[in-house]
Amino acid sequence: MHEIIVNLHMHTYYSDGHATHRQIAQSALRAGLDAVIVTDHNVLVRGVEGYYHEENKRVLLLVGEEIHDQGRQPQKSHLLVLGVDRELAHLAHDPERLLQQVNALGGLSFIAHPHDPPAPVFGEDDLSWEDWHLQGFTGLEIWNAMSEFKSLLKSKAHAIYYAYQPERVARGPFPQALRKWDELLAKGHRLVAIGGSDGHAMPARLGPLRRTIFPFEFHFRTVNTHLLLEAPLSGDCANDRRLIYRALQRGRAFIGYDLPAATRGFRFTAYGYGQEAQMGDEIVAKQGVTFQIRLPLPTECRLIRHGEVVQTWQNQQHGTYITTQPGAYRVEVYIQYLGQRRGWIFSNPIYVR
Ligand SMILES: [Zn+2]
Ligand SMILES: [Zn+2]
Repeated sequence: MHEIIVNLHMHTYYSDGHATHRQIAQSALRAGLDAVIVTDHNVLVRGVEGYYHEENKRVLLLVGEEIHDQGRQPQKSHLLVLGVDRELAHLAHDPERLLQQVNALGGLSFIAHPHDPPAPVFGEDDLSWEDWHLQGFTGLEIWNAMSEFKSLLKSKAHAIYYAYQPERVARGPFPQALRKWDELLAKGHRLVAIGGSDGHAMPARLGPLRRTIFPFEFHFRTVNTHLLLEAPLSGDCANDRRLIYRALQRGRAFIGYDLPAATRGFRFTAYGYGQEAQMGDEIVAKQGVTFQIRLPLPTECRLIRHGEVVQTWQNQQHGTYITTQPGAYRVEVYIQYLGQRRGWIFSNPIYVR
């Protein structure tokens, strides 16, 4: 297993973001990321994918797309489409056909900010996902850093407070998003969870105050998606792009809020009769399955099956749990930071059948 740190879902000047692809790559290099996936609204930007270098460091920049129907009011139901080399934004008005096309082309699709409350003080609409009758998507962006910021904008005073103290924003995925995911997992769907920054680096002004909401380098140190690759990154763009999308497709991933403490090294593994399973894998329940959880440092950890907590560990770095009960099991880890209990790690499920 080769762990890499990826930040995904962000916008450039090609849509409503305020940076170039190169500037995003430079911020990623400074933050020490391995890869970023840029997803402008309704445009697949070509000619910018590849490795960007600075001194002896490198970062891989990949390009996907965030597709939604701009004719809809409010403009709900955003879909992140990754790993497709063709422009599909013309299908935005027909999400069912859009999903079929993505799947036919071997791409990945993630429901962006499934729960996205409005911020009426700033005239921001609710942009939650509405098309729950659809099936066939790869997964859900259960943690979206900008939706979370938006949810805190109860007044102008709140906006100023969080704009100047962005490290106080993140608490974890919305319970509504987790509930929806657990509900679908309980029905037997296999859905990959990712965390996105939804970075725009938007210049904001309120009276005399000027602030960037938020710089990309800040995003890249906060809510990241960690991937466990089959092989290390080689430096070859086409090869590494395949490795990254394969890990995302399989759900060999966890969401790490890396600001309070690095989440690198988290592992969630299952052992059964002659088998070993990683996140995203399936394992047979017969004769028992042993889960093993390893945290980067001792804190609060819980094992969850279909929305129910089956075991909690406090101030421990390792957890073990044995079961014969089928279902999708996932891990949540919490940490104390700036006087508050905050979500730190959200694993993808291991499927016991
Ligand atoms: Zn969106
Ligand atoms: Zn977005």
